[in-house]
Amino acid sequence: MSEKSCLECLKPIKGRSDKRFCDDACRNAYNNRINGEQNNIIRNINYILRKNRRILQALLGNEKLVKISLEKLQKEGFQFDYHTHLLHTSKGQSYVFVYEYGYLLLEHSLCLIVKQK
Ligand SMILES: [Zn+2]
Repeated sequence: MSEKSCLECLKPIKGRSDKRFCDDACRNAYNNRINGEQNNIIRNINYILRKNRRILQALLGNEKLVKISLEKLQKEGFQFDYHTHLLHTSKGQSYVFVYEYGYLLLEHSLCLIVKQK
């Protein structure tokens, strides 16, 4: 007979073999910890996405499109690895979007900032 241990406190579990925790307190403590970690990951990514969106929004202002250097974007703190979706045009261009604001990579380390209609 194999003895299982509680996922939270690691004490041996008595009784039914499908039990994963010794009691409700251990189950709650475990779930709170796991959910907390997941919420932290989501919160951190959302923070970066919102910041990226804010940067694009500020640079675009009231214009329809703005051409800007990638260096400028980077200096503002833009993180290129974080975006929400891509938009492929019939011309074969791929816009990278952060919510409703997007950019298209151009030559000479420039990009074009746009707002989705
Ligand atoms: Zn336990």
